Amino acid sequence: MIPWSLLDTAQVPGGGELRLMQRGAEFSIKLGTDELMNSRLSATEQALATIACEKIRIRKRPSKRPSILIGGLGMGFTLRAALTVLGTEAHIIVAELVPAVVAWARGPLAKLSGDSLADPRVRIHEGDVGDLIRSGRLAYDAILLDVSAMDAVRFIDPVNLLAGFDAGKNGAEAEAAVAAQGLTIGHWPQSVAISSVGGWIATRASGQFSTAYGNIEDIVHSIEAVLPNGEFVVLGKGPRASAGPDLRNLIMGSEGTLGVITGVTFSLRRAAEARALSAFEAPDMTTGFELQREIVQSGWRPPVMRQYDERESRRLDGRLTKCVILMVHEGPKALVEAEVAAIAALASKAEVLPAPADIVEHWLDHRNNVPPWDAILDRSMVADTVEVSADWDRINSVYVDAVTSLKEIPGCLAGSAHSSHVYRSGLNLYFTFAILPPDPADMESAYFEAWRRILEATGRHGGSLSHHHGIGRARRDYMKRELGAGGLDLLRTIKQAIDPNGIMNPGVLIPDA
Ligand SMILES: Cc1cc2nc3c(=O)[nH]c(=O)nc-3n(C[C@H](O)[C@H](O)[C@H](O)COP(=O)(O)OP(=O)(O)OC[C@H]3O[C@@H](n4cnc5c(N)ncnc54)[C@H](O)[C@@H]3O)c2cc1C
Repeated sequence: MIPWSLLDTAQVPGGGELRLMQRGAEFSIKLGTDELMNSRLSATEQALATIACEKIRIRKRPSKRPSILIGGLGMGFTLRAALTVLGTEAHIIVAELVPAVVAWARGPLAKLSGDSLADPRVRIHEGDVGDLIRSGRLAYDAILLDVSAMDAVRFIDPVNLLAGFDAGKNGAEAEAAVAAQGLTIGHWPQSVAISSVGGWIATRASGQFSTAYGNIEDIVHSIEAVLPNGEFVVLGKGPRASAGPDLRNLIMGSEGTLGVITGVTFSLRRAAEARALSAFEAPDMTTGFELQREIVQSGWRPPVMRQYDERESRRLDGRLTKCVILMVHEGPKALVEAEVAAIAALASKAEVLPAPADIVEHWLDHRNNVPPWDAILDRSMVADTVEVSADWDRINSVYVDAVTSLKEIPGCLAGSAHSSHVYRSGLNLYFTFAILPPDPADMESAYFEAWRRILEATGRHGGSLSHHHGIGRARRDYMKRELGAGGLDLLRTIKQAIDPNGIMNPGVLIPDA
């Protein structure tokens, strides 16, 4: 194995040291122990450019001179891909905050970016991309952004229980900053360590403790964003307002299609005084759903309440044979004690038996572990998870229909589900599938067939096609079913009004946008 060698270091404005490393033909840029970029992993950087630029290239009425702003040079993959797609008339500005990164692209990394930096279509701006956008001097056909450098903790206010962050702040770091003062954001998506607070807003995310602490829309206090016309808005004021429509909801879930989120203020909680764990085993999914409904409709709110079908229960713990329900109770000690006792009584009345609470402890310790995709793909298998939601009287039909339908796919090894977010009127389901198609050439079609079957089954029973992962491209073509023709038209009207040139995340969320 060729050892890594350190080629250069550079200070990042605001703190931190970038290190440029080389191992044979492979390059890596690291910040501290985190690898920011690796020359072997360039697909997403390239896709960022090709998806947006292709859209501009084939536009019916192309602007005379397509103008693109790329936020961050990195290893130059995005720039190189943009130049490949765009014609000779294009004008590309690359804003790079760290001058050394530009020097590296001209020096040791020159082979990776080809002659990109010498291309007459390119201008390098050594400075903050935010300054360029805020200056509003130039109109862009597309802005390709990496917001991870906007990562400041702006303030923590223990009196009003508020904390403000730059939108690119890593979720786990944001939580650690408030936890140091005995507070919590209360939002733990499984992706907490790999997602940003702005991303939480953009995707209308949901944390694992949502049943008591709410989803991101219940936690956000205000949102700061830059609209496609360069206008800067701060949406949200005070603990609550009755001042027309809540415009924060335009940005929440907009998936980057209506503007760039630059800052977020969350309404915090004090760290819980007490925590208790409990687990039960229901004889079947229907009985478990019914118990969960009884619990929340009686007014109890364990922050975590998750129910796994038989297959997933066995995977969770070999001792389990039926459908396990895991709970984490948090809050003032007296409330936790009362909740544990009341739920035990409700379970007993429903003839749902207690299960060992150490299963919950194990879940807490391992809850963010995700198996590597390589191991699955290398075996010519496809697997994924798809989350949906439905009202109480529909959820079991969605579950049975989707799982039955998944199992009919040739080569289906597993079709299962668990619920993880509970509401007074219903809950979500998180389906997992694994398929080993008889012919590896069918891997892609089997994958999309599984998605289709889950979404079709959910739609048939009137459920929502996404509980918290958002729409992106995978579910975009189901948006008419989700919103209805009128709702989709309304969304298109809003998009057209805010982003008339379609520069914000083309192809995401809205069909044909
Ligand atoms: C292993 C794994 C587990 C996950 N678990 C959960 C979970 O438990 N709960 C949950 O809700 N989600 C989960 N997700 C989905 C995802 O991580 C979250 O939705 C998260 O909120 C996305 O944030 P991000 O910073 O990673 O955004 P990205 O993935 O980088 O971006 C998501 C979308 O938001 C847009 N966007 C991001 N930042 C901004 C910004 N500042 N301004 C405008 N648009 C922006 C992007 O353009 C993109 O369209 C999971 C994902 C993975 C891979």
